[in-house]
Order: sequence, then structure tokens, then C-alpha cells
Amino acid sequence: MVELGNGDKFLFDIGTGSAERLSALNIPYDYLDKIFLGHLHSDHFGDLDALWVGGVIAGRTKPLRVWGPSGQEPKYGTKYALERMQEYLTWDVAGRIGQTDTRGLAIEIHEFDYKGENKVVYEENGVTIRTFPAIHAIDGPVSFALEWNGLKFVYSSDTYPNKWMDKYAKGADILIHECLYTPEGWVKFMGFTPEAALQVGTQIHTSPQQFGKVMSRIKPRRAIAYHFFNDFNTIADIAPGIKKTYDDPVDFAVDYMVWNVTKDDIRVRMASVNEEAWPPARPNSSIPPDRSTAIPNSKFIVDGGLHFQDIIDEMYNDINTRYGTSAKPAY
Ligand SMILES: [Zn+2]
Ligand SMILES: [Zn+2]
Repeated sequence: MVELGNGDKFLFDIGTGSAERLSALNIPYDYLDKIFLGHLHSDHFGDLDALWVGGVIAGRTKPLRVWGPSGQEPKYGTKYALERMQEYLTWDVAGRIGQTDTRGLAIEIHEFDYKGENKVVYEENGVTIRTFPAIHAIDGPVSFALEWNGLKFVYSSDTYPNKWMDKYAKGADILIHECLYTPEGWVKFMGFTPEAALQVGTQIHTSPQQFGKVMSRIKPRRAIAYHFFNDFNTIADIAPGIKKTYDDPVDFAVDYMVWNVTKDDIRVRMASVNEEAWPPARPNSSIPPDRSTAIPNSKFIVDGGLHFQDIIDEMYNDINTRYGTSAKPAY
């Protein structure tokens, strides 16, 4: 997540597990409405469904706006993936319409050409976001550069070292670039064959030595390595590889790490989070559901209910009296 001094917030990738991490930051969901996907691997967009529907329940009243690349064929593009995500959640969404404020279920899909070279895909409120191609698995992945107020943030998503990053990440204040665990680590801890570990670790991703080389050429103010198992026993394997090709300090990213960036200084600290937190108060007020749009239950299901009429009536009367509303029970 990038949060600017003007309050704008942007999410770059939302892999499996990140919806929970975002929630712990206690940010109202109306502010988490702009997502930029670098590619469609599940570790980079697997929690989009959780943010989409869960965000509505937790208070988002705005549409979710998602930017992502095309592919070699339409079925490899962002639009295809997101339309099918909406399809597989058909039952989930259908059951919420007419029951709560569902304005946040709207999705805006902005699919752009993955071959765009430093192409602007977003320009609002003084913020410019550009994309350039990444090399990773099959065609389609991209990297992003965000510029605002004379500052530049670059995020690789996943990529093998490439000429576009080399060119368009120049001048970055912050460069978050992938760095995979060593091939030997994949063999030892993940049971990969040496052949697969080399393929994944040096051809599909960026190894520590390649990461150092990339940083030595681009020279960002701050080099940040992500996309490896950052554990007590892994940094000792990764750091020597980077050191071979890069002399300056590197931040090894972990969840909740924060960089406070100004023109004079970059500070690194850890966010203070509460993983048990409830969603924060919504900044925009909710509207009552239009019950006429709800899909009615069949007579079979309605007849199966134990309709404790006196209890329901008492609860409706109590709430209606206290809030000045006129809600009527379905049962
Ligand atoms: Zn990937
Ligand atoms: Zn990945």
C-alpha cells in the first residue's frame, strides 16, 4: 500500500493473505478502492475477492477500481479474470442485494496493454501511475511507477531483470523489487529439483545476485527486497548473493514494514497493528437496503422457518422507535 501526503491510498497487488493484513491496519474501506495488479498469479491477486465482498460488509460504499494488464489472448487478461471472479461469487452477491448497502459491489475494470512502455494508466489529483512490461512466466506481467509531489515509487511485482525496469525505475526514491530465495534454498527447504529451482530462481524470478545487479544500475534512494521467506534462517543465505553485486543497504521486507519518505529522509519502521481490530467507522454514511430488490425465498424455505412473531415484532418496534425508522419484517 502506498499512502500519499494528500491522503490518497493505492494498493499494488493483493495476494492471498493480504486482506487480513490490510484489515489490521484499521483503514476505512472507502479509502482502499484503488488496486493495481502487476500480474494474475494468486500470490498477487488472490485476496481481491475478499477485499471486494468483505470490503462491502466492512463499510466500503464506493466501487472497487482495479487496474491490470492484458495478456497475449483475452483469456489471459485482467478483465477475463475479474469477470469470472464476479461470476463464481454470483450466489454470494445475490444474497446480499436488497439486504444491506451494496453500492460497494460495483467494480470498475481498467485493463491496459501489457506492452505499454512507461505508459500512463492513472492520472488524478496530481498522481501519475505508469506501467512497463515485466518478464515473468508468460506474457502479461507489468511493473508500476507512481509519481507524486516530486517523489517516485517503483514496484516490480514479479519479474526477471529487464531493460524496462533498468530505464524507467531510474530516479526512484523507493524501489520495491522482487528477490527470490536462493536455488539451493528451494532445493533444501521446498523439495524442488535443482533443475526447477534454477528455472524458477533465476529465469522466472530474480535471484539475490541478479537483484543486486539491478539495484547497482538503477541506484534508488532505497532498495527493498521482497518475495522471499524472510525468516530467521534465510537472510544469511540471501544477503551474501546481494552483497556480491550491490554495496548499499537493502531492506528485507516483512509484513507491516513502513517507509516514511520525504525529499530529505527515508525512515523505516514497523506499523503498530491490531490483528483483532474491528473495521473502523465508515467515512461515508450507509443507506438502507431497498428490500424490493432482494431475491425472495421460496415458499418451501419460508414455510420451514420458526417465526417467533412476538420476538421479531418487539425487536422491530424497539429499533424503529429508537431510530425513527419504519422497517418491516419479511417474516
Ligand atoms: Zn508471479
Ligand atoms: Zn509472486
